Amino acid sequence: MSLIVTGSVGIDTVETPDGQRADDVLGGSSIYFAAGASFFTKVRLVAAVGEDFPEHFHEQFNRFDVCTDGLEKREGSKTFRWHGRYHENMNDRDTLAVELNVLGEALPPVPEHYKDSQYVFLANTHPAGQLALREQFPQSKLVVADTMDLWIETEPGLLKDLLTKIDGFVLNDSEAKQLTGESNVVKAADAVLAMGPTFVVVKKGEHGAILRHKEGTGVLPAFPSDQVVDPTGAGDSFASGMMGYLSAVDDVSVDSIKRAMAYGTVVASYTIEKFSTDRLSEIDRSHIDERLETFGSHLDIGAGI
Ligand code: AMP
Repeated sequence: MSLIVTGSVGIDTVETPDGQRADDVLGGSSIYFAAGASFFTKVRLVAAVGEDFPEHFHEQFNRFDVCTDGLEKREGSKTFRWHGRYHENMNDRDTLAVELNVLGEALPPVPEHYKDSQYVFLANTHPAGQLALREQFPQSKLVVADTMDLWIETEPGLLKDLLTKIDGFVLNDSEAKQLTGESNVVKAADAVLAMGPTFVVVKKGEHGAILRHKEGTGVLPAFPSDQVVDPTGAGDSFASGMMGYLSAVDDVSVDSIKRAMAYGTVVASYTIEKFSTDRLSEIDRSHIDERLETFGSHLDIGAGI
């Protein structure tokens, strides 16, 4: 089934605690998402960049099987920029600088041939853009959104409106706390459910993720990784494996979402092994399936326990 995404396309600068940094690399929530989901299905991208968007980023991104007919290069505008620095634990991070630029402008038009999209992912971006895309797909089968601290802080009204119009919401534990005021992750998830969606996935970095669905609950650890170079894009990659799998199997049951979360975990575990989309561009679907099997064997706690 067809999968569509909108979100940020950015020029990122990332610093990690071991002194490594990557300056002006390809980033943005919809880039990580589309790259990761392309291992499962054909993804359609709706996003805008400015006239400063480097040509070699197109080459880097063309490695992935993504339809970019909805990617607009807007004359007179500048590309979204983000500069982040990770703490020693490689989980928390500070945003040192953010320039919204084209992200604060209107969403580009959705190409006519995208209109039959059944699975919609509203990756982290200005909630006005998320709402604008959502409203164009009233008949879709599954709409899931992500967000970030900046939007919870600056656009709480739009976000609350968005929450009444989606099926699923993914966010990390600190964002869940910020949004709901609850520090217990399960209570926070339930408070999010009370705002509208049918399910919520709260990600807890290296501690995995919790699914709270109106019809059930699931828990999943993270893939045990000893090669964390840059966690940027882990959240978007998690969502990419999850949505990519769901749209490929066309099944949105609780059990299917749990399996989808395992795929999401595996895609994220690859993303963090290098800066930008560098690691994702080295792998193919067989790597994902192989690691899913390893992950499955880690999860096997035996019958009768
Ligand atoms: P993640 O690590 O999954 O949260 O996603 C990181 C990506 O989100 C980076 O590549 C950034 O360019 C992008 N990003 C950072 N801040 C924002 C924001 N406020 N809105 C949209 N995208 C953002």
